[in-house]
Amino acid sequence: MIPTEVQLGYLAAAVCFILALKGLSSPRTARRGNLIGALGAVLACVIVFFERDLDHLVPILGAVVIGAVAGVIGARRVQMTQMPQLVALFNGVGGGAAALVALLELHDLTRLGDSAERFALAATAFTIVVGAVSFSGSLVTFAKLQEIMTTRPVIFRGLPVAFGGSLVAALALSVLVVLDPLVILGVVIGLTGLALGVLLVLPVGGADVPIVISLLNAFTGISVAAGGYVLDNTLLLVGGTLVGASGTFLTKLMATAMGRSLANTLFGALKGGSTLGGGEISNRPVRSGGPQDVAILLAYASRVIVVPGYGLAVAQAQHALRELVDLLGERGIDVDYAIHPVAGRMPGHMNVLLAEAQVPYEQLKEMDDVNGDFKRADVVLVVGANDVVNPAAKSTPGAPIYGMPILRADEAKQIVFMKRSMRPGFAGIENELLYDPKTTLLFGDAKDSMSKLLNAVKAL
Ligand code: NDP
Repeated sequence: MIPTEVQLGYLAAAVCFILALKGLSSPRTARRGNLIGALGAVLACVIVFFERDLDHLVPILGAVVIGAVAGVIGARRVQMTQMPQLVALFNGVGGGAAALVALLELHDLTRLGDSAERFALAATAFTIVVGAVSFSGSLVTFAKLQEIMTTRPVIFRGLPVAFGGSLVAALALSVLVVLDPLVILGVVIGLTGLALGVLLVLPVGGADVPIVISLLNAFTGISVAAGGYVLDNTLLLVGGTLVGASGTFLTKLMATAMGRSLANTLFGALKGGSTLGGGEISNRPVRSGGPQDVAILLAYASRVIVVPGYGLAVAQAQHALRELVDLLGERGIDVDYAIHPVAGRMPGHMNVLLAEAQVPYEQLKEMDDVNGDFKRADVVLVVGANDVVNPAAKSTPGAPIYGMPILRADEAKQIVFMKRSMRPGFAGIENELLYDPKTTLLFGDAKDSMSKLLNAVKAL
């Protein structure tokens, strides 16, 4: 029987997790939400030390210290643009931990022999499989995003058979462990789960990896929830369910934002459809201009829309951009930021980046709200963005981004791209808009170009 004060502590932690999710739903309250969630997690960990008479206290505390130090150093050092990799890694570790805990629990359940509860055994097997899938799958997504391995889909003959075979093996072994609980079966289930995770993520192309990270995040949540059942721990059950549910919603939202179904994301490459472009760059002529040319375009406009993208984050040009937008605003020009849901490299990337530069939220316009305005815009200033304005998403069936809703920058009177070269964006495909007669290219690092542009506008 769990003492009442412990149950109350768990309840408080669960409330913290729910408030954290609520806070994370808006950029205004996200920081507070994050802190409340962290508080809930610390509370949950502290309660365990008081609730149970723990053996092996020294190694447990040692592991906590090592984990905390690695987490703090990793999180402080990581660049904003590498955040998805970090999330993948942290998520994978969570899934792996759930699988290991379930394996230990299986060890205890085997001691009960035939009296072990069947449902607890099934939940244990489930936790081992799903946790292992999440662990190995997350490591592959990390390797892809960190470009330790190719970001292209990895397909080989027999992959579907290997995947299907591993799935059937995992199911069959799980049934076996319920009928005859043996630790060695649990270990083999774990190994099968690891193989499944790798085979699941290998065929996914770079552009779709973020959706898979979110899916694996949901898997970790579900495995932790099942682990909570096995360990009879209500808080794990609640926390895992929240992670599983929010991860599932995020997966659905991201897949919709990228215009792909989940099945197409996971198995599209197996059907022959590419999920990453070829990366060919043609040498057709383009019109490039200097900061002065662009300054004149902006200064004589009455409606300007800024499209920020991944390159803005790489260049850290958000502060200079805000200064430019403020200056144009002071001159009576109507300026908004158009935010594409998958601009950058993580959900909400542009919102976070621009919030850091103190851009008022009212100036950030979601894609659906701003798309009707492009045809009235005199100038669209595309800063380090590419895929999110690429018309291939509408016009080129078979392109990796085909079907993804885009910002309709092509409808504006003038378009300015700030980028360093003719290299493509994340999806690896050419952008016809760069060759459009109404497009001007301002080549250079976005931060450098932005400060030159700012000075040029000031000088007018
Ligand atoms: P893209 O990756 O399509 O384009 C970024 C552009 O920025 C490139 O064309 C690059 O051109 C330019 N760039 C890079 N560094 C600099 C710099 N220092 N200064 C100036 N320009 C720079 O980014 P988008 O934001 O348009 O699109 C996001 C893409 O990422 C989509 O394909 C999306 O699916 C994918 N994705 C989204 C995630 C999310 O959750 N938001 C997660 C992971 C991927 P050049 O090299 O010539 O400078």
